[in-house]
Formats: sequence, structure tokens, C-alpha cells
Amino acid sequence: MTARQTREEVAAWRRLLDTIAGWPEKVAQLPVATPVDPSGLRRELQQRYQFDKKIPLDELTDQVLDLFTTLNIQVTHPRYFGLFNPSVLPAGVLADALAAVMNPQLAVWSHAPAANELERLTLGALAARLGLPAESHANFATGGGEANQSALIVALAHRYPAWPTGGLAALPRRPVVYVTSESHHTIAKGCKIAGLGLDAVRQVPLTDRWDFDVAALSRMVAADRSEGLDPFMVVGTAGTTSAGQVDPLTELSAVARRERLWFHVDAAWGGAAVLSDQLRSELAGIELADSVTWDAHKWLSVPMGAGMFFCRHADAVARAFAIDASYMPPPSGFDTVDPFVTTMQWTRRTIGLKVFMSLASLGFEGYARLIEHQARLGDELRAMLTAAGWQVVNHTRLPTVCFTHPDLENGSADLVGVLNYLLRRGKVWISSVTLGGEEGGQAALRATITSYRSSEADLEVLIGELEAGRRAVLESAS
Ligand SMILES: *Cc1c(COP(=O)(O)O)cnc(C)c1O
Repeated sequence: MTARQTREEVAAWRRLLDTIAGWPEKVAQLPVATPVDPSGLRRELQQRYQFDKKIPLDELTDQVLDLFTTLNIQVTHPRYFGLFNPSVLPAGVLADALAAVMNPQLAVWSHAPAANELERLTLGALAARLGLPAESHANFATGGGEANQSALIVALAHRYPAWPTGGLAALPRRPVVYVTSESHHTIAKGCKIAGLGLDAVRQVPLTDRWDFDVAALSRMVAADRSEGLDPFMVVGTAGTTSAGQVDPLTELSAVARRERLWFHVDAAWGGAAVLSDQLRSELAGIELADSVTWDAHKWLSVPMGAGMFFCRHADAVARAFAIDASYMPPPSGFDTVDPFVTTMQWTRRTIGLKVFMSLASLGFEGYARLIEHQARLGDELRAMLTAAGWQVVNHTRLPTVCFTHPDLENGSADLVGVLNYLLRRGKVWISSVTLGGEEGGQAALRATITSYRSSEADLEVLIGELEAGRRAVLESAS
């Protein structure tokens, strides 16, 4: 390495460290989002980067910082009330940088004993908070999608001992899994990937509060059995993606036990509530799950991607993912497991280091404060919306708020018009949803308190923008 390269590298690091240190203040001054011309952006990048000459690292760092600062949606903005993408804790950023520098390989325990044991320790502490037995399996994953996929595969291996070897051809009847219109679509996608097909996904109706209709589940299971199908799994969601609602987990678990269904709880976002004494009761019944999905890269505010998969049947996990590979180092002999034989991934980075460092630096107490701050802002947002004449339409104590306005319901103003007004101005970022399925569902605007740095003042800006948007759309319609 030449001296010049070292200077460049040092300059690049200094630039990055300055950005990291100043980011929370800086991002709050930026627009949350700026309109982008897709074809212009692609053309510009193609012209700029032809990879035919070297670019000094400090210059390159500046260029990427500039692109990312101006052309991405700023999900770490305190007024990004968006899709569960959090503002990240400093400990998590540090951990990811550290992991990149040393690049530990966690596929086999013996290659990274320290990293593997820190992950095991962290997962064990979080599993205990979920109320799962101490001997449960747990692993870090890229995200909730991988964790939900793991649940499907382990549930299949548990129910059908012939499946890991014989595949679908070894099954006597067609397996089916029960979800609702509010379940995350990674379950349906997972059924495609596992070869079950989308037809294996049975959609259970909702109650008039948008909750899982447990009585309807029992009826559907009976009807499907008599049709020759084989019900094997039900998915309850603890914090739906659209509305942040929690399905009746205890009731679902009772039906699952009676009907011999694998009970998976998808708590990708809502799982964090178990860390708060005030909110834990919202997730009552999660401790009865056969498996749980929980994303640290949502409400635990660590950088992407950090999913977690928990399962009380370690034997089924072993059966689902076991494989022989002569070139892999042999097991350590101690009671350790090699992640490559118990998880979907092979090469494995230390995803869990950022969760460990966040948890260890805050403590459970610090996390509870963070989570309760966001929940309290959610309550305030509901109150402020109601006071301003808007109507909250979802049912949850968690900080996802779906709302509409009489002007939108009676057709005087258009919901998409209001949303676009907000997004054009770039002071806040929210989204829209349809609760209860696309057909005949309730259209609503949706705001989540996803940044632990959001404050009351940010909520006031949001209400101001909504009111301005509503008036502007009313005026342009008249
Ligand atoms: C976000 C989400 C997922 C998907 O998780 P990824 O981390 O995006 O893969 C699954 N289920 C629910 C309920 C979610 O909110």
C-alpha cells in the first residue's frame, strides 16, 4: 500500500466518522424524501461510473455520501413515520463496522467461538423475555422473511418426518397453512419457495375489528380436512404490518393445539413490546408459540438486517436443516451447534453483534424506556388526530396509527391526493393502507412512530401537514 493510498483512506474514514457523529442533527434538517427522476438518475450514474479509472477512496466516499443524502428516503429522519425502518442506535452502527473489519465467519462454531457465543447469549436472553423454554432453538437471520421461511420449513419437517428426504412427493395429502389478509406476504412467498404453492395459503376472514376470526379458523380447518387437505400450520401476527394489531394469540394457540397445527407467531415489529412492563400484556400468548419471528432491525432500532427466529422444538430445526459436508470443519465436541446445520444460511456474518452491543449498552431498562417513549407518542398522535377531526380506524396500543377523515370518507377529498401533497413537500413521510383486504377494505393513511428520536414537535408538524393537505385537496376539488 502506498503512502498516498493510506492518506486517502484516512481522509475517507475521517469524513465518514464526521458524518456518523453529526448525522442525527443533519438528517433532521433534510427533507425526509425528495422526488427522483429514475431515468435521469440511472443515466447520470452510468456516465459517472464506467469503472475504467480509479477513483480515490476519499472522493468516492464523498460522492456516495452526497448521493445517499440527497436521493434516498431518509428513514432515520425523526419525521419518517414509515414502514418500521428505525433510526439506528450508535452501538449498532459500531458493531456493524467492527464486524466488517474482522469479518468473523460464524458458519461453524469453532471458527468464531466469541461471536457465536455472544449471539447465543443474546438470543437466550431475548427468548426468555418471550417466555419460551430455555432449551429452545434461536438464530439470527437476514430479516423477518428468512425467519418466516425458517418457520415454514421447520413446521413441515416437524409434521412430516418423510419430507426432509422425500420432499412433497412423500406427503400423503396437500399441506395447508392459515393466515389472514393482514398477515405478512413473506408467508405466501415462503409457500412458493418451499414448493407448497400459493394455493396452500388459506385466508381466514377477519372480525369487524380487523382481527383474526378464531371461530372461522376452526370451521375452515374442519372443512379443509373433509376436502382431503392437511392443515398443518397457523400464523398469528403480533403487530400487523398494515395496522400494528395483535391477533388473539392465546385463542389461536388453543385452536392450534386442538387441531394439531404448528403455531407460528410473526412478531417481526411488535415483538419489542415484550421488553416493556407496560406493553407486555398486549402479546399475551406469544409464549405458547411453536416458533416466533422477531426483527431487531425494526423496533429494536438496530441497522438492517437483523431478523431472529425462535423455535421451541430444537429437534425439528435439526431435522429441517441437517446436511453433511466433508469440507466443513468438524463440530467442536462441546455442546455447541454449527449454525450451517441448523439455519438457512451457510456463510454467516455476525448479524447478532449489533443486537448484543445495543442491548448490552442500553440494558433491558434502557430498551424499555425507548419502546415506551415511542408507544406514548403513538398515544399522543391518536389523541391529536382525534382532536383535529380525524378518525383513527385501527385497534392497537402499539404505535401504528391508521386514520381517515370525514372529508375522505364522504368523497369531498381524495386520500391519495392528501398523501401526495405530504410526500411532495417532504416534511413528513407516511403511507397509505387498505385494512381488511383490497376488496371492500377500509382505505386509510398510516403513520408509525418508528424513530426513537421522534418528539411531540414532530407530531405537530405531521398534524399541520395533514390539515394543510386536506384543505389543499378540498380547494382544488371545489
Ligand atoms: C417487516 C415484516 C416482515 C418481513 O420482515 P423483513 O425483515 O422485512 O424480511 C414479516 N412480518 C411482519 C409482521 C413484518 O412487519
